[in-house]
Amino acid sequence: MRIYPFFSSSSGNCTYIGDREHGLLIDCGVSYTRVKNALEKAQIPMTAVRAVLITHEHSDHIYGLKMLTRKTAIPVYARRATLDYLANKGCILSEAHDIEEETEIDGFHITAIPTMHDAVSPCAYRIERDGKNCAVCTDLGTVTSPVEEALRGVRTILLEANYDCDMLIHGLYPYELKERISSYDGHLSNTQSAEFAVYLVKNGTEQIISGHLSQNNNTPGCAREEITQTLLKNGLEEGKDYMYKAAEPENDFYFNW
Ligand SMILES: [Zn+2]
Ligand SMILES: [Zn+2]
Repeated sequence: MRIYPFFSSSSGNCTYIGDREHGLLIDCGVSYTRVKNALEKAQIPMTAVRAVLITHEHSDHIYGLKMLTRKTAIPVYARRATLDYLANKGCILSEAHDIEEETEIDGFHITAIPTMHDAVSPCAYRIERDGKNCAVCTDLGTVTSPVEEALRGVRTILLEANYDCDMLIHGLYPYELKERISSYDGHLSNTQSAEFAVYLVKNGTEQIISGHLSQNNNTPGCAREEITQTLLKNGLEEGKDYMYKAAEPENDFYFNW
């Protein structure tokens, strides 16, 4: 099984988890055409996509959902309040399924993990198959104990590293927006992400992809520097204790999990 962070930034998110026969999309925050092209480039047929799981209703996670469900009839899974919100906005034109805490889709065992973020019912997803697992955890302002608990021991994770604190403070965003991003229900900074990464690697995580980087307040280099250096200060070495990659807004790399 692989995890492909096809699109990952504040302007559009879509991750594929699976292989060429079956898999899941997590979020559809870019146009249907861009998702279709990314799958084609990775030689994954659209028919392999068994479901699209939505983390929350912000446009960088659902922008292409309406067209995806119109063109392909791929079923949508999300937590109840998110589904209701999206259905009311007319964004779902295929079957919609309420994802409670745990759901089984075509051999994938999925756990929805509630997160602290300013959306109706946001969550992260942990996915298991054949005794292996991975997770997608973006859009959270705070790493709560239930999030820590649910992600402990996950082998591979796409983890948010949204902003570099200095870039956000000294950047051009209005004060209110800076406050929103850095609040308890906003986004994770590189510093917060690094602290959580230490906990994760100490508890068995072997592969980390930093994702959902802000294009105005972060760079893959900044995220990498802070996260790998923090891990190193805690005795954890890249290439030996864990593998690391910071996602660009658009990617064609993948990790096996
Ligand atoms: Zn969001
Ligand atoms: Zn987002």
